[in-house]
Amino acid sequence: MTRKWIDPAHLWETLSPTTQQRLGTLALALGLVRIESLAVEIADLVRVETAEAEILSALESALTWNVPGIDGMRNHLVDLNQIGIRMCRTCGCTEAFNHPRKPGWANQTLCVACSESGSTA
Ligand SMILES: [Zn+2]
Ligand SMILES: [Zn+2]
Repeated sequence: MTRKWIDPAHLWETLSPTTQQRLGTLALALGLVRIESLAVEIADLVRVETAEAEILSALESALTWNVPGIDGMRNHLVDLNQIGIRMCRTCGCTEAFNHPRKPGWANQTLCVACSESGSTA
């Protein structure tokens, strides 16, 4: 099975300044809402989660309308290693979402589970 990958860092460099501004602002807002969520009362969590969903929806719209070729990328996997998040390039697991029975890493981009099953990254 051959997976097709997107490098988000490379894609960013191909975007217009206007699109970068829009996407960057949305990403910033999402991060700020996540930080805000750490400080709010339980009763306010629904408002924060709704804000997150709204921002993600706006982010999806911005990608759909402003990123050339986005439709062709729908069946690709996003290579999180390119943005500093460790991810197995064979199965897609990450540090936070690892194989439940075989956690751990064989190398930077290959998890232990895939390594022992003979897959290569
Ligand atoms: Zn893996
Ligand atoms: Zn894995």
